[in-house]
Amino acid sequence: MQAFVYDQPATRVIFGIGSLDRLSEEVQRLGARRVIVLSTPEQRSDAEEAGRRLGPMAAGIYAEAVMHVPIETARAAREVARQLDADCYVAIGGGSTIGLGKAIALETAMPIVAVPTTFAGSEMTPIYGLTEGGIKKTGRDRKVLPRTVIYDATLTLTLPAKIAGPSGMNAIAHCVEGLYAQDVNPVMTLLAAEGIRALSRSLPVVVSEPKNLEARSDALYGAWLAGTVLGNVGMAIHHKLCHTLGGTFNLPHAETHTVVLPHAMEFNRVAASDAMRIAAGALGARDAAQGVYDLASRIGAPLSLKDVGMPADGLDRAAKLATENPYYNPRPVEYAGVRQLLENAFLGKRPA
Ligand code: NAD
Repeated sequence: MQAFVYDQPATRVIFGIGSLDRLSEEVQRLGARRVIVLSTPEQRSDAEEAGRRLGPMAAGIYAEAVMHVPIETARAAREVARQLDADCYVAIGGGSTIGLGKAIALETAMPIVAVPTTFAGSEMTPIYGLTEGGIKKTGRDRKVLPRTVIYDATLTLTLPAKIAGPSGMNAIAHCVEGLYAQDVNPVMTLLAAEGIRALSRSLPVVVSEPKNLEARSDALYGAWLAGTVLGNVGMAIHHKLCHTLGGTFNLPHAETHTVVLPHAMEFNRVAASDAMRIAAGALGARDAAQGVYDLASRIGAPLSLKDVGMPADGLDRAAKLATENPYYNPRPVEYAGVRQLLENAFLGKRPA
């Protein structure tokens, strides 16, 4: 067996339909008294609902979270917290809202209670992102890891299929890259395989039967596992490429992950054959890369970079940027191979 280090930071997880009812109790458990609820403007009503559950502990709502966590938004939220003398945040929403909570915690070390409403998995990671002067920086810091996560599938009922599907594919990407991570360990391998299994069986139902709470719960279960994997092991070419494409060409996060993943898997197919065998088994497919492509197609998610706003004349630059600084990947990352990967993703070809 390969040698490994296992060092899992603890997050308390409350999972179950209706578990938002426990919000107030969970905040009290952290010893907090004055709570700010964070959300996007579109999810203000969710924030208000959380505020009602908190009763007298609710100090205010900051419903200004946006994609990519601009530093200005983080600073404004910190200032609101200071004025309201807050001692805890509840972040209710997807990766963007939880990301805002993390940006605040990075400076204040205040505890975050995360209530995820998508399947992206951010709530389980110590990874934060901040955009300053148009450049998104990411980092890892245990201070930003939510102390408590409440998974309540009821809150995902309003999530439209076109956001739900890609956010679940984003979670599958964490699992797939976790399987061939440089610092993989046996526990994360188990979680990654189970995450792929749960997400690949639930996402088609989430999309075709929007009111099916069991399927949404199953997808949240997969998201929890996927986020745990992302938080514990390093990622490789797929995440690097998506970060480059999102940052340089402003492509939408979850959709970009959805499109690129099968091609990154095709790229790593031979070099990471054990990981691909596990992923294929979890997907119930003969070939893992094709299985992921077919899943994306089945849930009606975008299949090509050209459909998510990538300019054809940006492919050379993207390949150059992604290969400039060498980083771990099971197959050595060189320009020609990555350029081909991007070409395939641009056209939305089914992996051969
Ligand atoms: P998101 O948070 O950007 O949300 C997308 C949209 O969906 C928003 O308008 C939001 O208000 C809306 N929405 C979310 N839940 C809803 C619901 N239940 N009902 C109705 N509308 C809802 O989407 P996301 O995919 O969760 O997050 C993407 C962001 O998260 C990216 O910026 C990405 O970098 C980050 N991310 C970070 C990590 C990490 O570990 N740090 C992991 C995954 C993603």
